[in-house]
Amino acid sequence: MSKPEEILLHDKKMEVPKESVADLIRKMIAIIGEDPNREGLRKTPERYEKALKFLTSGYQQNIETVLNGATFSVSYDEMVVVKDIEFFSLCEHHLLPFFGKAHVAYLPSKRVLGLSKIARLVNMFARRLQIQERMTSQIAEAIESKISPEGVGVIIEARHLCMQMRGVEKQHGQAVTSAMLGSFRHNKQTRDEFLSLVRNPKH
Ligand code: ZN
Repeated sequence: MSKPEEILLHDKKMEVPKESVADLIRKMIAIIGEDPNREGLRKTPERYEKALKFLTSGYQQNIETVLNGATFSVSYDEMVVVKDIEFFSLCEHHLLPFFGKAHVAYLPSKRVLGLSKIARLVNMFARRLQIQERMTSQIAEAIESKISPEGVGVIIEARHLCMQMRGVEKQHGQAVTSAMLGSFRHNKQTRDEFLSLVRNPKH
């Protein structure tokens, strides 16, 4: 299996333009017919650059740095579920936000991940230019590659501003994607247990 995190890392041969993001945003503001020098906009390019660096900081991380040795041997073999992980990402087609919740579960084989690491993994993939479907399978594949569990399930529910702001989608439309690997794919009972844990508000 290809390592999912490597697909998105910068190609070292790719030339990075010398202009800064702030320079480009200053130009963009002028192109759309605004005055980049007026009071309210003067510091916007630098602010935007800073925000964008944070929102794409997932490129500075990979599975190894995020999980950083946080896998543990255990005899635990019940389903591990972490639900309602909030995330914010940028769609790669419009560079506009999509955001929502990720629900992640796996059935351990011999190893488990530190619980907080699952949220960090979600954030690493979210803080890149993404499409929801790919992000969903990258999270599942990363967990599979790291701890070889019996199975992994990932469900992501998200709202896409590129759709909602442009009126492509109904105001409250949510896109739901899932990736089921191993027993989550092959065993209906496992999958159903995960789905009911995700849907049940008491958990
Ligand atoms: Zn989009």
